[in-house]
Amino acid sequence: MVILLPLFAIDEFGTGDPWFCEYFCPAGTLEAGLPMIFLQPILQANLGWIFLLKLCILILFIAWAVISSRPFCRTACPLGAFYALFSKIKLVRLNLDYSRCTNCEACHDVCPMGVRFNESPNDMECITCMSCSKVCKHNAINLEIGELSILGKSKRPQTKPA
Ligand code: SF4
Ligand code: SF4
Repeated sequence: MVILLPLFAIDEFGTGDPWFCEYFCPAGTLEAGLPMIFLQPILQANLGWIFLLKLCILILFIAWAVISSRPFCRTACPLGAFYALFSKIKLVRLNLDYSRCTNCEACHDVCPMGVRFNESPNDMECITCMSCSKVCKHNAINLEIGELSILGKSKRPQTKPA
């Protein structure tokens, strides 16, 4: 929606709209649309179906966030999807020491992105919040910055046992 629609859904002048911002982005509604109509009440008379649509989307995600962790980040954020492309080459990463991991699954419940770290230590959804490393009592999750191990014992990731 962010890349393809502006490329192909164009007007007679060959110009595409910022479709994601215009019709979907709840962050824009919360941080720009709502403050603007409160600060400039005169604008309220011109609110149309697009604003109502975006307001509904915002309310939906807020309600969803009450019962689930980071629903917008996990399902709709194009920025997160773009950043995830670089997860393989990021300098700051968490590694799993398989020799220490007991598969206790304590890291599952705390992950805001729904990652099961011991099953998928290189998951593209990981945002390196380190919540899992804090709850791992077996010191199996190590933070590395470049080649430098900051937390934990192992310097490099262990090979997953067959
Ligand atoms: S909390 Fe630590 S030991 Fe337990 S499953 Fe996760 S990584 Fe393995
Ligand atoms: S660092 Fe955060 S996002 Fe990544 S697996 Fe651990 S808890 Fe999940």
